[in-house]
Amino acid sequence: MQRFACPTCGRRAYFHNLTCACGHALYFDAARMVMRNEGADCGNRAPIGCNWIGEAGGLCRSCAMSRVVPVLNVGNNIQLLGRAERAKRWVLTNIANWHWFSDDDPGPRPRFLMLSEETGGRAEQITMGHLAGEITINVTEADALIRLQRRQELGEQYRSMVGHFRHELAHFFFDRLAPKAGFLAAFRDCFGDERADYSAALQRYYQSPPVSSHDFITPYARSHPHEDWAETVAHLLHLVDFTDSFVSTGLTMPGVPTGFAPYAETDTDRLLDIATRVAIAINDINRALDNEDLYPFVLTPPIRRKIGFAHGWMTAHLSQRA
Ligand SMILES: [Zn+2]
Ligand SMILES: [Zn+2]
Ligand SMILES: [Zn+2]
Repeated sequence: MQRFACPTCGRRAYFHNLTCACGHALYFDAARMVMRNEGADCGNRAPIGCNWIGEAGGLCRSCAMSRVVPVLNVGNNIQLLGRAERAKRWVLTNIANWHWFSDDDPGPRPRFLMLSEETGGRAEQITMGHLAGEITINVTEADALIRLQRRQELGEQYRSMVGHFRHELAHFFFDRLAPKAGFLAAFRDCFGDERADYSAALQRYYQSPPVSSHDFITPYARSHPHEDWAETVAHLLHLVDFTDSFVSTGLTMPGVPTGFAPYAETDTDRLLDIATRVAIAINDINRALDNEDLYPFVLTPPIRRKIGFAHGWMTAHLSQRA
């Protein structure tokens, strides 16, 4: 994520800040990707701390995509929704660098169903996923303890709200890219045939989850070509974004050219080489405090090829004809 500053005093304004230390209010202008001191409040500013500018209808462009939200006066749903929406705004800002859902993107937007297991009545079972433009997010996972527990149960190395949004949005991107000339043939060559029975594949996966392999970024990616794509796109977004954060702090290190702009880079190999250097360096720093690795995944040649495919289509979707 790039860094933002308060227009009045020039102090750093963190992406989620509502006010600056100088006393001015902060509003994120998602259309221009800058922080402002004035704007219309998003209808969710007071209840859940959304700092984006409210647009027609009262909500910001991110909150407006959430068609269903949990009952807010039950349990800690209001905090959970606040944290989930925060992760969503982060991810939407990242992908706007590639013109997804920005003002110049004429394509459809996803509709988010932000659901909580805590309904005030019987506990709800929620499956996160994407179906025909609708993305279901379980905001209960915004609770760190619950997320950690599921991460252990499911044997995932990495599980976060930002990760969930990146993964589920990837399924939505697939539907947007599928009608483009040449996409499906190239996709099948890279990931396999996505018409393979999905529910049977997932059932097989949960009956006997595979271990990690040389060809897949995560064990879950092995379950079905759709999941391989979603995991691959999510990892592409993780890699670009932590590299962008590294560069934005002004840090430099051998192999990372000054002025490197990760979101503008079109050469996937160059991007991945630099991201890997950054990851290894930060893994080393984290080990000094016995923290977990920043990025504990290995990018083998087959995985790099898939990331390259995703990178090419994700960055150039507006110029591809349907
Ligand atoms: Zn200020
Ligand atoms: Zn909002
Ligand atoms: Zn998925």
